[in-house]
Amino acid sequence: MSIADYSPGSNFIRNIIAEDLKNGKNDGEVITRFPPEPNGYLHIGHAKSICLNFTLAAENNGRCHLRFDDTNPSKEDTEYTDSIQRDVKWLGFDWGQHLYFASDYFEQLYEYAELLIKAGKAFVCDLSPEEMRAYRGTLTEPGKNSPYRERTAEENLELFRRMRAGDFPDGARVLRAKIDMASPNLNMRDPVIYRILRATHHRTGDQWCIYPMYDFAHPLSDALEKITHSICTLEFEDHRPLYNWFVEQLPVPRKPQQIEFARLNLTYTMMSKRKLLQLVQKEIVQGWDDPRMPTLAGLRRRGYTPAAIRDFCERIGVAKSNSVVDIALLEHCLREDLNKQAARVMGVLRPLRVVLENYPEGQVEELEAVNNPEDPTMGVRKLPFSKVLYIEAEDFMEDPPKKFYRLAPGREVRLRYGYFIKCTDVIKDQAGKVVELRCTYDPETKGGAAPDGRKVKATLHWVSAQHAIPAEVRLYDNLFTVEDPGAVEDSETCLNPASLEVLTSARVEPSLGGAAPESKFQFERLGYFCIDPDSTGEKLVFNRTVPLRDTWAKIKQAGQQ
Ligand code: ATP
Ligand code: MG
Repeated sequence: MSIADYSPGSNFIRNIIAEDLKNGKNDGEVITRFPPEPNGYLHIGHAKSICLNFTLAAENNGRCHLRFDDTNPSKEDTEYTDSIQRDVKWLGFDWGQHLYFASDYFEQLYEYAELLIKAGKAFVCDLSPEEMRAYRGTLTEPGKNSPYRERTAEENLELFRRMRAGDFPDGARVLRAKIDMASPNLNMRDPVIYRILRATHHRTGDQWCIYPMYDFAHPLSDALEKITHSICTLEFEDHRPLYNWFVEQLPVPRKPQQIEFARLNLTYTMMSKRKLLQLVQKEIVQGWDDPRMPTLAGLRRRGYTPAAIRDFCERIGVAKSNSVVDIALLEHCLREDLNKQAARVMGVLRPLRVVLENYPEGQVEELEAVNNPEDPTMGVRKLPFSKVLYIEAEDFMEDPPKKFYRLAPGREVRLRYGYFIKCTDVIKDQAGKVVELRCTYDPETKGGAAPDGRKVKATLHWVSAQHAIPAEVRLYDNLFTVEDPGAVEDSETCLNPASLEVLTSARVEPSLGGAAPESKFQFERLGYFCIDPDSTGEKLVFNRTVPLRDTWAKIKQAGQQ
């Protein structure tokens, strides 16, 4: 998508809801829900759905439920229900009293299933999974009726009750809806609605040995909660007739309307929970909150702000056809937010020692520095300046090519908020590596200007060696080297070996001492960084959130030319 597609305010779901309200549908109520399955952590794709559902409800004085669709006990866990609640709150949304679990409806769902049986609309089927597949037909051929389809309601009821009582082994029988084996929609060909599965559920324990299928539990859970607009992603479009069938057949308190929208795909980003789980299990990343992960927990640790993610979700809009969004747009939204709120500081990632030969031994000056030029209310701070400093190693070249304007032997540059310095000597180790620069400073240039009007072409960041705090800095790049890792069969083949670089000898200005985890800063000239929870009293650990260079702004500019 391009920035031109960005039309804040309007989308087709908003329009549907406005129309429904105008027509007095649903007694003027708007109730949506975000329905995660607690089988992994939320990712940036879920954020799109969360923002959409909560925002649509809020702007119509409605409400949005958080409902766990926990019908698949073997993959679910309370670690996930906890993390999901934490992440939705972090993103800035509140479900109030309306936290629900599909498992709370198991008894009601069971009763609905009995009602279907009594009405002759569901039957117990003994076909094996292979046989069932064979009977199902294909997209071009109709299916065949199961030989068990004509069981009487009494027989079905008895068998279903025995399924619940645990009389049959796992997988021996299923309950199926009796719809139409010749339907062109495969989902309507007598879909399974209950299976036998002896698995301990994270909430109901061993109370049940039969579990409802998603396609059955989901619409009925929506209906029980009196959801008005059940918003889901496009892959459920083919399931809508089945969704409607269940809510039509059963005496539910409301018949919700299912509306599908395009899921979010992002370049260089894996968006499947199942594959993200593999990355965690195989220890390719260091957990669900690894800052390289597209999970909300990972993005938070990386330094993303909830406001930036919400802004992104609004900008990408809501459409009915699938597309891929450039990750540069997400980073652009983040930079816009951080630019407003992050304090500017100085940190040196790869330090090179600089000794100012003419600076008085033992002298320390306090230089005044602006915290955020975008926001004068953030004030100023003092930076200690002394005889021995560190600058960024890559800001010096002994033999500079033409366009390198930074420090070089005999050349003068400005130190940010400090003085002009000139390189007079280069000290190397035995291997010939530059380990120290000898420089002079010009005391007349305090504040960064020379009284004689002479100019320098570069301003470097620096820290005072004796005052700086040691830091570890973790630099991140995309986890995958291809634009669409989800499309690669074995996505491990396209992992980026350089997705993490750890710099262990960085130094940051002393004002950062004691900064709390998740605090965010702009390291001047380098990018945005945030404090990682791995930080200790001795050593600060930073994650680089994003570099400063904004590729999206460039794309945008190019598009406007
Ligand atoms: P995944 O495919 O990553 O496993 P899922 O759809 O199985 O995701 P759920 O827990 O079922 O995960 O998703 C909860 C809600 O989030 C659903 O309504 C789903 O449609 C929505 N959702 C999931 N992925 C995306 C996405 N990439 N973009 C927008 N919405 C999404
Ligand atoms: Mg799902």
